[in-house]
Amino acid sequence: MSVQLAEVIAVLDAAYPPGLAQSWDSVGLVCGDPDDVVESVTVAVDATAEVAATVDPGGLLLAHHPLLLRGVDTVAANTPKGALIHRLIRAGSALFTAHTNADSANPGVSDALADTLGLTVEGVLDPLTRGPDTDKWVIFVPTGHADAVRAAAFAAGAGHIGDYAQCSWSVAGTGQFLPLDGSSPTIGTPGSVEQVSEDRVEVVAPARLRADVLAAVRAAHPYQEPALDVLPLAPLPADVGIGRIGTLPRPVRLGDFVEQVRGSLPQTSWGVRAAGDPDAPVSRVAVCGGAGDSLLASVARAGVDVYVTADLRHHPADEHRRASGVALVDVAHWASEYPWCAQAAALLRDHFGAALPVAVADLRTDPWNIEPQTVRGIS
Ligand SMILES: [Zn+2]
Repeated sequence: MSVQLAEVIAVLDAAYPPGLAQSWDSVGLVCGDPDDVVESVTVAVDATAEVAATVDPGGLLLAHHPLLLRGVDTVAANTPKGALIHRLIRAGSALFTAHTNADSANPGVSDALADTLGLTVEGVLDPLTRGPDTDKWVIFVPTGHADAVRAAAFAAGAGHIGDYAQCSWSVAGTGQFLPLDGSSPTIGTPGSVEQVSEDRVEVVAPARLRADVLAAVRAAHPYQEPALDVLPLAPLPADVGIGRIGTLPRPVRLGDFVEQVRGSLPQTSWGVRAAGDPDAPVSRVAVCGGAGDSLLASVARAGVDVYVTADLRHHPADEHRRASGVALVDVAHWASEYPWCAQAAALLRDHFGAALPVAVADLRTDPWNIEPQTVRGIS
């Protein structure tokens, strides 16, 4: 039983849809041939030289961080990243990255972090809005003609909501019009006000089908000038996006929670630091794997007690603390995303079983590697 790289990519793309990646990001296959057989998969946060050295010949390195993000004009083997690419290609190995798409996906990077910290996830901290590009059509049809108009709209592609087709809503009412000179009304005569029993028929349709639906409705509608409204619908928040909000099984002191974070994540020289009242009770927690500075404003509005993320800088943290009572817990970037490796590994193991050995790279790729020997007091 052999597994092709293309099959692995299909599973990863389904779990971490590339369409969820930020516009500046670079995700997907970096090197490797989708038609090749994959011998094994190694999952890591970073594609470092040390990690690449652990990848089996013919293996796939699945990394969270892109290796080549900004414009690249060489992969020469005498450059650090070029050497890594050469090493992989020479060994028949591949590199695939799932970055901000894995951050936003559900479950994604922050779900893995939340699970590790013992949180029950309740929602997305910064939900993506899914632009449905959907129109609501409101069509006024004289009684007796509504079925024909509905059928025409459905045939043109209207009426789909999720796994349901031919969706429509209608109510009976009274329409009124005054046919002017030169008109040729289906009902009534020019010069006299006409009141007609009509149905108000509502359906949704993709905005790209606007011309098709209009042509179909006009063709099926008995009136010379059908009355209708086309309303673009606002996008709704989706269950995907950056960061998660979760709850602890029971409230704990902030100081104890910080210790819980320290004990749950792999050790780093960066360590775990926190800002807040150590005795304040915390139960609702926001988390964001990776650098979470940019979500501080969302955190302040989220109704949480504490925010766990990485790479919090002096000024954003200081500004936040002046304006918000939400405590901050800052952990190493690598440590905050490392739990995702197990999530991605489990995804592939569940799908391919014994046909594809999957391992999480057992290397700390946090760039900070020297532990402080002693902490000197500052007075
Ligand atoms: Zn990251």
